[in-house]
Amino acid sequence: MPATSLEQIVSLAKRRGFVFPSSSVYGGLASTWDYGPLGVELKNNVKRAWWKAVVHDRDDMEGFDAAIVMNRLVWKYSGHEATFSDPMTDCRNCKARPRADHVFAAQKGRDPKNLDEINAAIAAKELKCPKCASTDLTAARPFNLMFRTTVGAVDTGDDSGLAYLRPETAQGIFVNFGNVLDTMRRKLPFGIAQIGKAFRNEITPGNFTFRTREFEQMEIEYFVRPGEDEAAHQAWIDARKQWYRDLGMRPENLREREQSKDELAHYAKRCVDLEYKFPMGWSELEGIANRTDYDLKAHSRSEQNPDAVGSLTYFDQQAKQHIVPYVIEPSAGADRATLAFLCDAYEDALVKDPPAEETTKLRELVESFVKSTAKRESLAKDVKDRLVAEGEAIASALPGSLPRLLGLMEDTEANKIEVMKKLRGVGEKIAEEHTRTVLHLHPRLAPITVAVFPLKKNEGPLVESAKSIRQELRQAGLRVVYDDTGAIGKLYRRQDEIGTPWCITVDFQTLQDGTVTVRDRDTMKQERVAAKELPGSLSARVR
Ligand code: ATP
Repeated sequence: MPATSLEQIVSLAKRRGFVFPSSSVYGGLASTWDYGPLGVELKNNVKRAWWKAVVHDRDDMEGFDAAIVMNRLVWKYSGHEATFSDPMTDCRNCKARPRADHVFAAQKGRDPKNLDEINAAIAAKELKCPKCASTDLTAARPFNLMFRTTVGAVDTGDDSGLAYLRPETAQGIFVNFGNVLDTMRRKLPFGIAQIGKAFRNEITPGNFTFRTREFEQMEIEYFVRPGEDEAAHQAWIDARKQWYRDLGMRPENLREREQSKDELAHYAKRCVDLEYKFPMGWSELEGIANRTDYDLKAHSRSEQNPDAVGSLTYFDQQAKQHIVPYVIEPSAGADRATLAFLCDAYEDALVKDPPAEETTKLRELVESFVKSTAKRESLAKDVKDRLVAEGEAIASALPGSLPRLLGLMEDTEANKIEVMKKLRGVGEKIAEEHTRTVLHLHPRLAPITVAVFPLKKNEGPLVESAKSIRQELRQAGLRVVYDDTGAIGKLYRRQDEIGTPWCITVDFQTLQDGTVTVRDRDTMKQERVAAKELPGSLSARVR
């Protein structure tokens, strides 16, 4: 059973050290998260897999790492200073400040064409506050998403020291196009890849790490001759989709979405979003745009840009002239990809049926949850309908639906119903013994590749042998842990929950014939294997 709500992922992430709410000792900071010991390994593995696929495994790519704070003029001429904003409206009645384009789209069933159209609808009282339904809304105003900072020791009070935390990594690549071209003696087509932090003062962050104000991007700018752009664009769409698939993402959870003409940024010729089916619905994972020659021209000296020192062009040997390349931009989020891989890997599974009397007790409690929910006046109708339907489906299919009950037990709305406390008390105990939570992460992404256990922790030779196997696996470049803090069954379950693909148990037979038990996370099958073969065979499966 995959995760039915994001809360299940958030709960596992906190419980097992993937992601914590940031600054929690001071009460946190809204929509800001810190990656814990396992989360940082997972995210690093995602970034490493991306870098390998788009830089090391290709002949036409270079890597790059630009500064976060750049000359303010970069953001003036990229267009961000003037246009990187969301239109906001204020409700005079309840003081809410919703995004006006979202209000328009939700209430009119289509995206607005521009700010004027939104404001005409507000003036005609056609739009309502999504919180209190008042039509007393102010005209929408653009709210710039860039974080401002000051460069230098003295804040002069004017804008002379003004700088921005970059809202995307892309511009750092565009303004270095000439440097890379010249120093690496590149010919078209070629691309530049970069991973780095970006900052956006998002109005509506949320959905865990899906939308935050500080996040990491993995961006490629791929430069081609005009005329070769459409084929290169399609090739990148295919390559990027395949990358997620190669790392185990389920095909049914990944789709392409072609942006409509109305949605396209003014400079873009075509843009395809790769979307993932997150528990909260299909949402953008990566955007792959044909940005034409807009960016390189924008940063080249011209009547519109007297501040640039030169031209970002390419000398075409065949045509004997300078041309401005077109740019294909596959732009992904490292945090969003990490979250998608986590969601995709998550499974709650029944491992054995609980005794009949426990199932009956659980069924009665779920039925009583359904009854209380149906009677609850204060719940919104859609929430009530969802919880009742989910409860009924679970009650009718127990014990098989026990994994599904785990999702309901994490649901924020369901936890507002009194009987849920009792249901959790009983359900969690039964689940602990009869279900397992497992992350089916690709071995290349798993934070830990192998866990090694001695059958008994008090037997010196077993411990010694287990530790020496750990050392050999480490030397083969694998991420390995040693654990002897519980019974083997319990240790398996702990490793399942964090996605470790293989567990190795060292027992008395190991001391005689050098074989160990290798237990596979996904199939739970155990195999007797010669320990000396493991460094080679396991590292081959991680590459
Ligand atoms: P969205 O429509 O979701 O706001 P966007 O179209 O503005 O995204 P881009 O500017 O194309 O996003 O950025 C490229 C990628 O960077 C996105 O596909 C996403 O993976 C990631 N990204 C953008 N904004 C955020 C954010 N606030 N938090 C986390 N990741 C983000």
